[in-house]
Amino acid sequence: MELVTGQSPKRKPVVILGGGFGGVYTAQCLLSCRERFRRPDIILVSRSPYFEFKPLFIEVLGNRLTPELARFRLKNIINSDAGSLKIATVQGIDGKRKVVATDRGEIQFDHLVIALGGGSVPVPMTRQATLFSLESVDECIRLRERVDELRQAARKSKGKLAKTQRTIAIIGAGPTGVEAAAEIANILRVDAGMESKHDIILIETAKHILPGWSRRLRRESAAILRKYKVDVRTGTGVKRVAKSRIYLDNGMTLSAGTIIWCGGLKGLPLYESIGAAIDKSGHLRVNAFLQLPGFERIFAMGDAISTKTFSAPVPQGAQAAYQQAKVVAHNILNATEEKRLRRFRYVELGEIVPVGGRRALAQVLGVPLSGHLAWMFEKGIHIQRVPGWLNKIRLFNGLVLDPLAQRGEEYLQRKGR
Ligand SMILES: Cc1cc2nc3c(=O)[nH]c(=O)nc-3n(C[C@H](O)[C@H](O)[C@H](O)COP(=O)(O)OP(=O)(O)OC[C@H]3O[C@@H](n4cnc5c(N)ncnc54)[C@H](O)[C@@H]3O)c2cc1C
Repeated sequence: MELVTGQSPKRKPVVILGGGFGGVYTAQCLLSCRERFRRPDIILVSRSPYFEFKPLFIEVLGNRLTPELARFRLKNIINSDAGSLKIATVQGIDGKRKVVATDRGEIQFDHLVIALGGGSVPVPMTRQATLFSLESVDECIRLRERVDELRQAARKSKGKLAKTQRTIAIIGAGPTGVEAAAEIANILRVDAGMESKHDIILIETAKHILPGWSRRLRRESAAILRKYKVDVRTGTGVKRVAKSRIYLDNGMTLSAGTIIWCGGLKGLPLYESIGAAIDKSGHLRVNAFLQLPGFERIFAMGDAISTKTFSAPVPQGAQAAYQQAKVVAHNILNATEEKRLRRFRYVELGEIVPVGGRRALAQVLGVPLSGHLAWMFEKGIHIQRVPGWLNKIRLFNGLVLDPLAQRGEEYLQRKGR
């Protein structure tokens, strides 16, 4: 394997794997401390040239945001002389030799940050089966196109679609499944201006939707889904998926022309190559400093790590990855200066779930919020979190100013001006 260009054998860099939440915020934190950080360069390795901001995907699905505003070019974020971007797919990590294997050569590291996220839990399926998901901007666009097709087909057939064609099944009622079900119901039942005859089914293994979330949000989300006439089936898992068919583990079979997978994440198979401890779902175990036990120069975070690693469970989410990135950056700096490392303590700021259109349900620092106010609050957080001033302005424009201008125009047209 070739050595990545620009790497001198003496000066090994800090290598960050993954250009998602954990990777981007760790890189930003390290680059902002460059003065203090007199040590080697930072290399961010990502298979995609974009930082995909997943919490904005629902806006893309709902056609309220252009896809370009939900992903940001990594080269514009890592645009420092101390940091460089390498577009490559990570294939393995040799913790002992301190080498990462990629499809574009090996990279040696001094400190390594694993922020590669997780992979979808595999569901047994036949080759003919097609699953939709919300795991990337491209997947959201594919799903949005399918929902548009369904809307048009319903209009053309005047509501007389065959049962399989009109049924949409969403597997997994965690936050992503609930927001997808509510958004699709909103598009088909409210935006289309018709009581569409589509059947929307939400399937969840746990006894209730949003497992692990506060009772109020579970109760109110369930009430909204009922209002949207979403058929919620809890306490049953999916055994197998075939073309337009779902086999449930309670023995029932469902026919659905559109099947969306929101069934949770597991660790990536490449995590096994490190030789570090992993949990039953393949996630990496870390210590309180977010290091892999036995590999003190390797840190991991976000969806890559086990949620049960800490004294209290830490949810998988952008909020956790963001907080962990700060601790990891701080600990790499401290380790290079031979100072004490900081322990990671998760601070729960709240829970927010979008429930179709410009509405959400939220519990922020114990304060309940709902409707448009909760949606605005969530978008405010997203605008604050996206990297770069220009991106913040573009996003504010796309989410707030453009729709306001459009409403104003519609109002004037109605008034005949
Ligand atoms: C639709 C949706 C909505 C969400 N909404 C919210 C929300 O509102 N609030 C919230 O807190 N959380 C939300 N989440 C969860 C949140 O986005 C994730 O928990 C968060 O992105 C985890 O960050 P991460 O850095 O661990 O992984 P990711 O952000 O997934 O980043 C992993 C990166 O690694 C790259 N990668 C993976 N494998 C390889 C490889 N082999 N080689 C090179 N690169 C690789 C990927 O391309 C990606 O860029 C949402 C998730 C989804 C899917």
